[in-house]
Amino acid sequence: MLENTSRREAVKGALNYPQIKVEKPGTTPLSPVSEYFGINTFGLAQMRDKLSKESYQNLIKTLDHGKKLQKETAEDIAAVVKEWAVSKGVTHFCHWFQPMTGLTAEKHDAFISVQTTYHSELKVVEKFSSSQLIQGEPDASSFPSGGMRSTFEARGYTTWDPSSPLFIIEDEAGKTLCIPTVFFGYHGQALDCKTPLLRSVEALSSNACEFLKLLGDVDVKRVQATLGAEQEYFLIDRNFVSLRPDLIMTGRTLLGAASTRGQQLEDHYFGAIPSRVKKYMQEVEYELFKLGIPAKTRHNEVAPSQFELAPIFEDVNISADHNTLAMEVLKRVALKHNFVCLLHEKPFAGINGSGKHNNWSMSNDKGENLLEPGTTPHQNLRFLACLSVVLKAVYEHADVLRAGIASPGNDHRLGANEAPPAIISVFLGSMLEKILDSIEAGKVAQATEGQIIDLGVSKLPTISKDYTDRNRTSPFAFTGNKFEFRAVGSSAIVSVPMTFLNAAVANSFRESTEKLKDILSKKQNRDEAVMEVIRENVKLSKAVRFEGNGYSAEWRTEAKKRGLPILNTTAEALEVLKNDEAVKFLVTEKVLTPQEIHSRYHIMVERYVKTLDIETDTLMELVNTYVVPAVEAQLSLLSSTKETLNNTQLKKLHQTRIDNLEATYAAVLTNLDELSLLVDKVRAGGDESLKMKRIAEEVGPLNVKLREACDLAERQIADNIWPLPKYREMLFANT
Ligand code: ADP
Ligand code: MG
Repeated sequence: MLENTSRREAVKGALNYPQIKVEKPGTTPLSPVSEYFGINTFGLAQMRDKLSKESYQNLIKTLDHGKKLQKETAEDIAAVVKEWAVSKGVTHFCHWFQPMTGLTAEKHDAFISVQTTYHSELKVVEKFSSSQLIQGEPDASSFPSGGMRSTFEARGYTTWDPSSPLFIIEDEAGKTLCIPTVFFGYHGQALDCKTPLLRSVEALSSNACEFLKLLGDVDVKRVQATLGAEQEYFLIDRNFVSLRPDLIMTGRTLLGAASTRGQQLEDHYFGAIPSRVKKYMQEVEYELFKLGIPAKTRHNEVAPSQFELAPIFEDVNISADHNTLAMEVLKRVALKHNFVCLLHEKPFAGINGSGKHNNWSMSNDKGENLLEPGTTPHQNLRFLACLSVVLKAVYEHADVLRAGIASPGNDHRLGANEAPPAIISVFLGSMLEKILDSIEAGKVAQATEGQIIDLGVSKLPTISKDYTDRNRTSPFAFTGNKFEFRAVGSSAIVSVPMTFLNAAVANSFRESTEKLKDILSKKQNRDEAVMEVIRENVKLSKAVRFEGNGYSAEWRTEAKKRGLPILNTTAEALEVLKNDEAVKFLVTEKVLTPQEIHSRYHIMVERYVKTLDIETDTLMELVNTYVVPAVEAQLSLLSSTKETLNNTQLKKLHQTRIDNLEATYAAVLTNLDELSLLVDKVRAGGDESLKMKRIAEEVGPLNVKLREACDLAERQIADNIWPLPKYREMLFANT
């Protein structure tokens, strides 16, 4: 009989995992964080220290006014950067960028240059020139461009983004200086996720400033979008992952029966963190701190073996880099602790998936949060105005915001009663709801409990700071002084949804400014004119506000009635990017050109198709080489015991067992057969868009049916025959 021992060994390994000792002194140092925070970064503070005054001021001019960096300044910067890096034992440097693969890319070069001396001896010197700092030319042909680059102009360039600090990645294999860069094509087309984000930050800043100036903030110079991205993840013992081809190939389990205990006891959430995990988190945080990433909170999440890391918020362009880096650190450090960190949105069926809650707000150059009710009447009017601008943005561009969070992984999560539905709506809380309703009705709002803030303008309501109301079912919830975009998937590169959000709000600021100018030209009182703009935005966007249970079936019906876009799958959501009217604001705000939007559509479709193809192939392979042999072994076991039975009653019961397993076997084989025929057909014809549609509508559901049959088999087969680590083991025997 086929006996499976490797699974048992894995369980033993995971349960008896030696409590790791701190490997190197210094891995989790006792000294205060402030002493080593950011030691592996080189940002503006160090530039100010090390550069000549003139060079530093030139750099600041570049940053503030988009001036071209002068050659001499660049040489100065390269020199101080090299000196710093070499003094820290760095041997290589790389241009670090975010191509549209959903990952980061790096190409390493040594810090050396060769000089030939008089006797033709080679002499190696440490060298790092300004051009190496500023521009790179990676072989771009293997990065996706969505058809933007034809082969004859396959060149791509990376250029240093001075707004993001340089950093050193260190591990056992050595130290590399990473230069954050943007990546673009020969004609300046954005080939990455960072360029559009930077453009959206600019658009938001200039449009918001214009609006705020009309409001009376005449000296406002910049408005900065801010982001704090809470990252959820799973930690699974490496022994288990090594026995699960699906986890290795796709990052999620394509098979696996639910265990008797799941998350129903809700005993994991905020529970004591197991010590093996705590050691892991400690090392992750140490690595993040050295990189200048302000990790703040850590805790258990709802699902077993699920955890969360939340940073302190930063400017969105920095925070986006930091989140991407944090994901890399989470994965890298996990391996050292014999864990695998799963960032997939839904690694386990029937168990909560992982999101990345994007806490987003805007602040001015005085550091005032524009979405926070303030202490003066003016600040409160400004708060309501900015809030109404965001509401209008989310209402008008809900479909594009939905497209920005579309991914095959997130399809499993959105609307699965654990994460917000795929319908974009805004939750404000009862206090603000009341205020907006009375503004809409042109009435003075009633003063309410809590800290009352007077707007100080006649006919204006009072605002209470309300931090208590929460709604976990809303995809875009106001949480007192920021919005929490909860629908973003855990593996997402946040630059994408943040670009769309910034651009939407930028566009809404632009239109609100026009409206305000128009009203001001007819009216004398500024505050009343502002109130009128608020009223119009509130009225316009009313349909997007929803306070109820986003998980409920009634909400779907209601949302449909309200005419909100309901885009259930990635396949449906991505089609929005083909709608010129829907994406026009991205072009107006100069965030993406029509060609760049088009290319992103193609890349996302292609990624969807490829991801699902890999999942389907892996599933079929698992069924053929794991499930079917296990069923057959169990069947032969049953038939051999059959001969040993004499008791009629027993014979009957035994036959039922055989019949049941045979029925399962038939279901497995039939669905497998059907799936493989369907896959051949889908792959044979049509363009990528059609393939995406057919995969979503036909292949996906058949995968689910096949899985159900296999999961039934898992329950009918002897534990020692079943080859794949089970849910109970992976989720509960980890720590
Ligand atoms: P809450 O309890 O409302 O979730 P926290 O203080 O725990 O608030 O913050 C949650 C996340 O929101 C953190 O990552 C935090 O840095 C971030 N955050 C707080 N204020 C802002 C802001 N103004 N802009 C962006 N993110 C913010
Ligand atoms: Mg939160």
